Amino acid sequence: MFSDADMEARRWLRDMMGEAGLNATIDGVGNVFGASPNPGPALLIGSHSDTQPRGGWLDGALGVIYGLEVARSLGENQATSHLAIDAVAWADEEGSYLSCLGSQSFCGVLSPEEEISAANHAGETAEQAIARVGLTDVERVRLDTTRHVGYLEAHIEQGPKLEESGDVIGVVTSIVGIRTLHITFSGQQNHAGTTPMDRRSDAAVALFGYAVTLGEQLSELAGPTTVWTFGNARLDPGTESIIAGRADLVLQFRDPTDDVLDRFEQAAFAHAEQAAGSGPVDVSVKRARGPIPPTKMDDHLQAHIARAAEGRIPGRWVHMPSAAGHDPMILSDHIPCAMVFIPSIDGISHDFAENTSDEDIVMGCRVLADAAATIMS
Ligand SMILES: [Zn+2]
Repeated sequence: MFSDADMEARRWLRDMMGEAGLNATIDGVGNVFGASPNPGPALLIGSHSDTQPRGGWLDGALGVIYGLEVARSLGENQATSHLAIDAVAWADEEGSYLSCLGSQSFCGVLSPEEEISAANHAGETAEQAIARVGLTDVERVRLDTTRHVGYLEAHIEQGPKLEESGDVIGVVTSIVGIRTLHITFSGQQNHAGTTPMDRRSDAAVALFGYAVTLGEQLSELAGPTTVWTFGNARLDPGTESIIAGRADLVLQFRDPTDDVLDRFEQAAFAHAEQAAGSGPVDVSVKRARGPIPPTKMDDHLQAHIARAAEGRIPGRWVHMPSAAGHDPMILSDHIPCAMVFIPSIDGISHDFAENTSDEDIVMGCRVLADAAATIMS
């Protein structure tokens, strides 16, 4: 985000939007915005154009090009040329500086303090980056609720479900919520040779036992699409001849419903209390900052996408939650949102190998265009 190549791509996209007849700008936070010259109400369509380091060619970019293509093709068709489609490429969805920077700015929920404090790996703040690329005094495009009646985003699934079920379109029902817990085990550091087994207060053993038994419990509490990850475990001091005095475990879990997230959290706390009670190691659980609540997609917009999919590929589409985060997490607090997924080959994403068949890419855009036309008619 905000590299020379990134800015060159934004200028290219702005020019393409202009050629499609949109009033195109790069706004003060790097969003590329193509406003239809038609009067509102307008449907906003797009995705993000930034990417992950060594990420693939479709994550984000696919939905951006779809937005441009839907605006262009509906504009060229006499039956739909009066409809207003505004195309958008959000800045920094992946969070080189701040996750969903562009959509947060658009919705007016980004504070100047956040732009000053959000920094990339090199320590450059979002504010400094915006100045470096010459956007400091450029106006920002803002959500206009008198014009924008909804937001559609198409995206690759980034997982294997569509490919496995043989479906071409996923109508996204919600974006999963994410919670993270930090579990700390406090024992007594001691000599690995001279401390008899019955006198140990081994934080490592407590950690392993906790993870295994909690993992079994979580399997029973999980919903059909819940995922959970013990993403990090650290023993302190973490060497072969010392009984660990302290150990830290990180558990993250994702589900489209608060119910399951609550159940998981309760289980983690209860199990910690139980483990600490039966000793000899103390166990405590802390919630990480910034849990992400599940985001429900708009039913009415979902119905339009489902109908469009059924019209193009009868029986070959499904309702499904999104297991990854997307800009509608921000936008849906302000306008109705919906998402269209297309298959990812082998479920691979955030890697150069990320791909989708040409046939599915074309079909995804047709379904999105059909849905956009019926939503606005
Ligand atoms: Zn993405």
